[in-house]
Amino acid sequence: MKITCENGHSFEKSSNCKVCPTCSANEHKDHEFLQHFSTPAQRALVQAGITSIENLKSAPFNDLIKLHGIGRTTIIKFKELLNQ
Ligand SMILES: [Zn+2]
Repeated sequence: MKITCENGHSFEKSSNCKVCPTCSANEHKDHEFLQHFSTPAQRALVQAGITSIENLKSAPFNDLIKLHGIGRTTIIKFKELLNQ
């Protein structure tokens, strides 16, 4: 039986678990990315829609550093992550 999750991924429902595998993988990835930052920085990033390294790469750096909650430590971390 095919199921489509609220984010539009379709997947085969094999067990009683109705968690979308694509969504749960993405959530895990987002969680890992955000763990690099302090709580205020995490909040600012989520609000700005930046929850992955891909988002960070495509965001204008000068706008990122102006976000409320983004301090010097976070900016250093951004640079580390972007240089990886
Ligand atoms: Zn999904």
